[in-house]
Amino acid sequence: MSRIAIRNATIVTMNPGRQVLRDRVLVVAGDRIAGLEPAATWVPSPGDEILDARGRIVLPGFVNTHAHTAQQLGRGLADDVDLMTLLHDRVFPYESSMAPDDSYVSTLLFGIEQIANGTTTFADAGIQHASPTVQGITELGIRAAFCYSVTDAGEGLPSGWKLSADESIARQEEAYARYHGAANGRIRWWFGLRTLFNNSDQVVELTAEAARRLNTHVHMHLAQSPGEVKYCQDARGASPIRLLAKLGLLGPNLLAVHCLYTDDEEIDLMAEHGVKLSHNPAAGLKIMGVPRIIPFRERGVVTALGTDSGASNNRNSMPDEMWLTTLLQKGAHGDPAVMTAQEVLEMATIDGARALGWDDEIGSLEVGKKADLVVVDPGTSNMQPLHDPIANLVFCMKTDNIQYTMCDGVWLMKDRRIGHVDVPAVLRAVHEHAGQVRERSGIQLPARFPGA
Ligand SMILES: [Zn+2]
Repeated sequence: MSRIAIRNATIVTMNPGRQVLRDRVLVVAGDRIAGLEPAATWVPSPGDEILDARGRIVLPGFVNTHAHTAQQLGRGLADDVDLMTLLHDRVFPYESSMAPDDSYVSTLLFGIEQIANGTTTFADAGIQHASPTVQGITELGIRAAFCYSVTDAGEGLPSGWKLSADESIARQEEAYARYHGAANGRIRWWFGLRTLFNNSDQVVELTAEAARRLNTHVHMHLAQSPGEVKYCQDARGASPIRLLAKLGLLGPNLLAVHCLYTDDEEIDLMAEHGVKLSHNPAAGLKIMGVPRIIPFRERGVVTALGTDSGASNNRNSMPDEMWLTTLLQKGAHGDPAVMTAQEVLEMATIDGARALGWDDEIGSLEVGKKADLVVVDPGTSNMQPLHDPIANLVFCMKTDNIQYTMCDGVWLMKDRRIGHVDVPAVLRAVHEHAGQVRERSGIQLPARFPGA
């Protein structure tokens, strides 16, 4: 078996002791970390590929817990508008106008951006066409948890999106049977629920049952606006989290996304049931309000980071979200001591893995785990000097500092170059497909400046 050895780096393991190792060689064999050997005694074997990473920092690959591959080609179509306009007038028409080959191109663009920013695993909140999306991820070499974004009720849905609750579950079970565990286990299939505006009580109950039966997870946008809370209280008899408690969806396999508008009792309910929270600071600020996460963390809710979509955030960069997470919470709480760099780094790595129920395999650099890692080059003007490396990773690092990305023991980016995907060809296809989908969707953007 071919081995890859990374020497002379500072290794930020994110293991249970949060050890930072120097003078160790990280050895990868096949898809796993095979050793963290003392440098003084380690001897390479013939055929070993050796990366001398002197002056570099090795981290676990980032885990992006909330993304939308289907919205990547819609970047720039939903700016400066409120949430309902974004959904009903921009994102829904765009996504519903996608053909299978558009999904493929959208997935490739998304994945290229993830690899470039050091993300090796992501959870998608709902895809359009499964086969080309899975194909794209298989070619890209990253790890993903997919679902369909189920809609069975409510207003504002494109034609063809409103399936019955039973049809929605059957479609997902079929995809689970086909894709769960594909690509050497890099692909997992989950159940998706779009929002309570478009999900009936019945589909929520059936989803809870099916996900438990198949031992998989559920991805859902929740408590995104005061309007959603009011709608749930008026039309469904309880606020969002209380409603889900009643319907049996709260559990350790639920990834609840956003949750800006939850009261303390609802956060207690989430903690009690082991629900995980995906915090997406950029999308939250842009569309929903000021996200709080400290009350969740104080109650022991696993909180992780997500970028959300090209349409709702525009930057799908985990380094950007890390930076924003710490600044936002410091400002919102009026306390510069909250959300430390080490907490944010946990959210982006091991807690992301915990949120996805994947921490037995990823999220930290430990012998036996999957070899998902990034090599950071801090030798640039924006990261020097390096008095406090962990702080610099959160407060200073930019996407360009991610020099190498590895997933499943395979280099996906080397020295900033992604070699296994034809990036220029993908960018040409993006130009073509993004325009075609927009034309079919009929979305008209107001001109911002004359001639723009
Ligand atoms: Zn989302």
